[in-house]
Amino acid sequence: MALLETRFTRLFGVAHPVMQGGMQWAARAELVAAVANAGGLGTLSALTQPSPEALLAEIRRTQALTEQAFAVNLTLLPTLKPVPYDDYRNAIIEGGVRIVETAGSNPQAHIEAFKAGGVKVIHKCTSLRHALKAQQLGVDAVCIDGFECAGHPGEEDIPGLVLIPLTSRALSIPVIACGGFADGRGLVAALALGAEAISMGTRFLCTREAPVHPNVKARLVQGSEQGTQLILRSLGNSVRVARNAVSEHVAASEAQGVGFDGLAEWVSGQRGRQVYETGDIDAGVWSAGLVQGLIEDIPACHELIARIVDEARAIIRGRLGDLAKA
Ligand code: NAD
Repeated sequence: MALLETRFTRLFGVAHPVMQGGMQWAARAELVAAVANAGGLGTLSALTQPSPEALLAEIRRTQALTEQAFAVNLTLLPTLKPVPYDDYRNAIIEGGVRIVETAGSNPQAHIEAFKAGGVKVIHKCTSLRHALKAQQLGVDAVCIDGFECAGHPGEEDIPGLVLIPLTSRALSIPVIACGGFADGRGLVAALALGAEAISMGTRFLCTREAPVHPNVKARLVQGSEQGTQLILRSLGNSVRVARNAVSEHVAASEAQGVGFDGLAEWVSGQRGRQVYETGDIDAGVWSAGLVQGLIEDIPACHELIARIVDEARAIIRGRLGDLAKA
């Protein structure tokens, strides 16, 4: 397969400008290694592992499955139980991982240690303001997440079509576009908007290697762009999840003024985990993006990445090239 080389591929030493998001409960060794072996940047989810020791073991498991580079996502957002972030950070460094993606809030407390450990830092955020701050703090790249995304889109609701070019124009470090990407058309659009790569979560959740129940993948194939719901907006911690019985219940409770104490048991990650493990789609809330409207199959990661890159190259050389000649 021909390549699409960008500052992203050169900086992180991967073949293709395609990153897999560090999805809670799903971004485990099997998926990450499949993405890495296909030439993308796979990303383990640190907090999916119950302890820093378990994360180190998962890093070792991934290293046994691939010789390629991969990243670890360390999300810094409110959680039901306190997280020993410093210990997770140290496990990433001790594991010899060379790329980390921080996300959710200011990564300042961790950057010096990562840099000293030889780890490149991508910071994922949802606003230009935070992207500029991250660059100032010395991160190596920013992943900018438009309102279309699964999980936490922030509170400003700026879609990628505006957020990606705004961020790419303002930053000198490489920008990775996230939220709403599933195919070669999206990759070409992201490159045209100034980004150096795309990051995809929901699309990779719907691959053969994603370690989640087949019902979840079937639901994504059947789902439309209208099949998500924003919850926890009343707490200033919005999350985009697949619309289901629990998300409807949470949204209705929020509308009645129920506070976090009355919502916590419904939105807990442990419930969401049940969805992935048992296939009961209504067991809890689980993140999904608007992009599910574009997802129609369950390919292997290598098929997906090859298809995206081939399609992007065909668009650039074909239709866009023809337009430019006219
Ligand atoms: P969890 O079970 O600890 O929390 C469940 C949900 O409640 C999460 O959305 C969390 O942000 C929210 N929450 C917890 N305490 C809160 C508080 N005091 N006020 C407001 N909201 C609160 O979370 P988990 O499922 O074990 O996930 C671990 C971490 O990963 C969390 O920080 C979660 O937000 C994050 N996460 C991010 C994404 C994403 O951005 N795509 C997706 C899933 C989870």
